[in-house]
Parts: sequence; C-alpha cells; structure tokens
Amino acid sequence: MDILGIIEKMLDGIEVKLDYDFFDHREELENIAEKIVFTGPIDKFYNYRFGELEYRSLRFETEILDVENYQGNAVVNYTEYEVPYTRIIEHKHFEYNTANSPKTVITKEYPDKWVQGKEPYYTINDEKNNSLYQKYAELAKADKNVIFGGRLGQYKYFDMDKVIVEALNCVKSIL
Ligand SMILES: Cc1cc2nc3c(=O)[nH]c(=O)nc-3n(C[C@H](O)[C@H](O)[C@H](O)COP(=O)(O)OP(=O)(O)OC[C@H]3O[C@@H](n4cnc5c(N)ncnc54)[C@H](O)[C@@H]3O)c2cc1C
Repeated sequence: MDILGIIEKMLDGIEVKLDYDFFDHREELENIAEKIVFTGPIDKFYNYRFGELEYRSLRFETEILDVENYQGNAVVNYTEYEVPYTRIIEHKHFEYNTANSPKTVITKEYPDKWVQGKEPYYTINDEKNNSLYQKYAELAKADKNVIFGGRLGQYKYFDMDKVIVEALNCVKSIL
C-alpha cells in the first residue's frame, strides 16, 4: 500500500476539516468529543496564563537557477558564522526527478526571530522555557479530556520518526 492509501485508510469514516483553527472554533470543538488530541501550542491553549513560550522561526528565499544541478544533493547545511543562511534545499533531488530540466529550484533557509503570527518552527528548550513549559505540563496532567501531542503540544523538537513513535506510545497507553 502506498502512503496515500495508508492515509486514506486512517481517515476512513472520519470527518476532516481543513483551514479550521481550533481557537476560532474552540467552543464547538470542545463540545463534539469526549477527548481532544491537541497538536497546537500548549501555552496558547491555556491563554498564556503563565506567559509565552519562545520559538525560533525561519525565513525562506526561493530562486530558480539556470543550472541543471546546483549542489548535487537535496540538503546542504551551512554552519559558518559568516554565512547568513543555515541550509540550502535543492528540491529536484527530493523528487527523484528524471525530467533532466536545464533549470533548478533552490530555497535558502535563514534563521528568523519568532513573534506571534509567524510559524513557530523550533522550540527553544533552555532552562527558562523548559521550566515555563513544566507549569503548562502540570495543567495538562490534570486536564483528563485533552491529550497534548507533538512538537507544539509537548514543547519539544521531534524528528518525524520520533513523533510517530510518540503517537503510537500514546495510543498504547490510552487503549
Ligand atoms: C524546518 C524544519 C525542518 C525539519 N526537517 C526534518 C527532517 O529533515 N527530518 C525529520 O525527521 N524531521 C524534520 N523536522 C521535524 C518534523 O517536521 C516534525 O517531527 C513533525 O512535523 C512533527 O509533527 P507534529 O505532529 O508534532 O507537528 P506538526 O507537523 O507541526 O503538526 C501539528 C499540526 O497541528 C496543526 N495545528 C497547530 N495549531 C493548530 C490550531 N490552532 N488549530 C488547528 N490545527 C492546528 C497544524 O496545522 C499541524 O497540522 C523538521 C522540522 C522543521 C520545523
């Protein structure tokens, strides 16, 4: 079964709403089920009662270049202080593109300060933020109707495989 088939099977018989922000429909969504799996920001869920958690954001710049192959690889990381971007993505290498286009599309990722309204890409797990998160985690522990999951719900960086393991463990512990 391909990945699309797996997802279709997982969602079979489930109503899916897209572009439907939890906070814009909170009352409705809190009243349609006994339990909520919440994968948004835990501090916002509790109306920033103890203050805001901090995140790092990113800014992306995409260019089309007149070369067939720019870096020979999907991702190259840049760690030098003098280089303003942290990595360059060359999209055609993800796609197993066999079309041999004479052009290529690259995206440079620049670190960016996070403010509300921007995408919170990475959590900042320093002492200050971890201890603030602990206060929210205590509230969450007492909230038996809500399961907080994922990088924003648990305020932690997860690689994709780790977040899936976490979700499977969560299912096991509940069922
Ligand atoms: C820039 C970047 C690069 C990465 N690269 C890699 C990589 O190369 N390899 C790797 O293994 N992992 C990578 N990761 C990590 C990977 O993206 C995460 O592990 C994965 O996305 C975490 O899944 P999640 O479900 O916790 O969070 P998300 O994927 O963020 O899912 C959370 C979901 O909750 C929804 N949501 C949030 N708030 C609301 C709301 N208010 N109302 C309704 N819905 C809401 C969001 O729309 C989203 O669909 C990368 C992460 C980032 C940020």
